[in-house]
Amino acid sequence: MMNWHILGAGSLGCLWAARLAAQQHHVQLIVRDAAAITAYQHTAGVGLSDAQHHSTQYYPVQVQLATDSQPIDYLLLACKAYDAQAAISQIAHRLSSSSVIVLLQNGLGSQQAIQTMLPHVRCLAASSTEGAYLLAPFHSVFAGQGHTQLGDLQATTQAVPQDLLTALNAAGIHCTWTTQITEHLWRKLAINCAINPMTVIYNCLNGELLHYSERINTVCQELEQLLQHAGQPAAAHDLTAQIWQVIEKTASNSSSMRQDVQQRRRTEISYITGFACAQSIALECHTPALHQLHAQLHDTLSAHGLSTA
Ligand code: NAP
Repeated sequence: MMNWHILGAGSLGCLWAARLAAQQHHVQLIVRDAAAITAYQHTAGVGLSDAQHHSTQYYPVQVQLATDSQPIDYLLLACKAYDAQAAISQIAHRLSSSSVIVLLQNGLGSQQAIQTMLPHVRCLAASSTEGAYLLAPFHSVFAGQGHTQLGDLQATTQAVPQDLLTALNAAGIHCTWTTQITEHLWRKLAINCAINPMTVIYNCLNGELLHYSERINTVCQELEQLLQHAGQPAAAHDLTAQIWQVIEKTASNSSSMRQDVQQRRRTEISYITGFACAQSIALECHTPALHQLHAQLHDTLSAHGLSTA
């Protein structure tokens, strides 16, 4: 059995905690403060429901604070990208060169920042299509089955972590190993840059982006150039066509960024268009439509009274 610490008891943190606990792994949830521990103690444990809310199971995993002294073997970092560095700093003293961290954050930038903070710790980045939301504190709904790609963020001579992959798949966390995780993250970032901001700016469903096809195509072309400049030609390949396929397949969906805005939650803008714009400047790649998109998203978030960071 493995010892898992899960930092961030939100939608994905609880989804992973429940499935790992169901397989008898030792799971410790690291929560923000004493009030969160008290709140947890008033529940029956971490709850997990299926998408239709037909069945719910509760798993009485343990909770602790970051200040606990217990060493960490496997850490799932399940907070938002903008919280990731601060969260890791709080538990850095509990990590060693034999620890393994799985980073679930969307976008790009936070993963690299963490690997730089912890050069001797094996950091695996995840790119996942699983979907979950919280029905109540510590109670997650598994809204969308999906697949997770996992891979090392930095070059390593270490072997593929087969025990980890076997344990995750046995827990119903369908994942495969990739030696190209950065390419997957860049591709996903480009798709998110092309779709999410415009659904917020035009306040529309993904499928309604068809009305703005000229703007989408211009942004896609710039994203392809950016990926080329960033040394990610495979991620650039056929990008525009794939983005249109995603728009078509998810036509009736409201993007995660639009949902965040509608629920008045902070978005991960800095790790989506913010990261892409910063990279285009650093790599001297001319992407005026992308910068305009980022600036307009920034203004739209401001107008909603939401953070632009
Ligand atoms: P979430 O529901 O907002 O959960 C994040 C949790 O982390 C919150 O409970 C937050 O606590 C906690 N947290 C943040 N900093 C902390 C700290 N220093 N110590 C302890 N707890 C801390 O987020 P999520 O939806 O699970 O998403 C996590 C990441 O996965 C995001 O980058 C997201 O984009 C990505 N993702 C999510 C989904 C999905 O379906 N949900 C799918 C794909 C990717 P507070 O509430 O107190 O801030």
